[in-house]
Amino acid sequence: MRISRLIVAGVALSLGATLTACGSSVKTVDQAPTSGSNAGALVGVTMPTKASERWIHDGDNIKSQLEKLGYKVDLQYAENDIPTQANQIENQITKGAKALIVASIDGTALTTQLQDAADRHIPVISYDRLLLNTPNVDYYATFDNFQVGVEQATSLLTGLKLKKADGSDDPSVTGPFNIELFAGSPDDNNSSYFFNGAMSVLKPYLDKGTLVVKSGQTDFGPCAILRWDPATAQRRMEDLLTKTYNATTKVAGVLSPYDGLSIGILSALKSNGYGTAGQPYPVVTGQDAEVASVKSVIAGEQYSTIFKDTRQLAKTAVDMAQAVLTGGKPPVNNTKDYNNHKKVVPSYLLQPVIVTKDNYQKALVDSGYYTAGELK
Ligand code: BGC
Repeated sequence: MRISRLIVAGVALSLGATLTACGSSVKTVDQAPTSGSNAGALVGVTMPTKASERWIHDGDNIKSQLEKLGYKVDLQYAENDIPTQANQIENQITKGAKALIVASIDGTALTTQLQDAADRHIPVISYDRLLLNTPNVDYYATFDNFQVGVEQATSLLTGLKLKKADGSDDPSVTGPFNIELFAGSPDDNNSSYFFNGAMSVLKPYLDKGTLVVKSGQTDFGPCAILRWDPATAQRRMEDLLTKTYNATTKVAGVLSPYDGLSIGILSALKSNGYGTAGQPYPVVTGQDAEVASVKSVIAGEQYSTIFKDTRQLAKTAVDMAQAVLTGGKPPVNNTKDYNNHKKVVPSYLLQPVIVTKDNYQKALVDSGYYTAGELK
């Protein structure tokens, strides 16, 4: 009886492993609530902020999935304040957390707390954003961040009609188009991946002169928006419009790495006369498929966003936590790309999806991520 159970468990585990090896969709068969010394253990989960809806989805998904496995969860948000997040992690360690899942604000700022965790043999999973400058991070669950940037830039080109829907260039469209570039927070390791991924696609068009960054600001530094703050992005866009553009020189595209920034950028454009029949909005990209921005996409304002299914990301991190807490081996599909300056962190990378007006129904509603009503 015991042996046959073990065999069944073995088959189930190898089935989980096979599914993992086949692709990026979320793997592992459902496991029963854990037994063993970590059964019912406390897991500490820290998220950066509730100011952006995606982190609320992430936190809720992680919590409910861990609770289904029988764990207790301490879920904390730090409203983008670094010392608050450090304190939250310290408290979770003090309360006896047996594993930590951390989506950092500043990836370099938690080394002391993570050393404390390591000293007590508490495994740490870096969530979405890589924890930097520490050997004390065990696994990393994220999306393919370079690919996010590639997709943002690709949708910018499609929106400008330089690329056709099938991905090929349209030789009859030659531009030149004026564009401006935005990047994420410099303390978030993802930001340079997004920017470099986007630039890998845009560079040939910039070199040819089909695309022109009229302000001349093409380096990450001047484009970066500290803490991903929408108001800062709005101010920068206003500044660009005042200094670089006028009644005859218009901006045709804006690379924006996050929906919240896109909202700020669109409002600067609106107050400068864009968004009318005579002067439509430029092509503006985004990321996260947040409700307000999906509505903006449907209304024909923002052109695109990047959908990163937080249900899948949460499941990946929870699978990692479950494995480390039960002595198993977490699923990973990348062991070379994410060096945090102390080690290459074994990672699981999920695939992001471009969303426009054409496919939001299939990607976001048919997949059950949002109801049609939420997007009305
Ligand atoms: C995440 C993005 C998000 C951004 C701002 C990044 O680390 O990967 O999905 O748009 O932070 O919250």
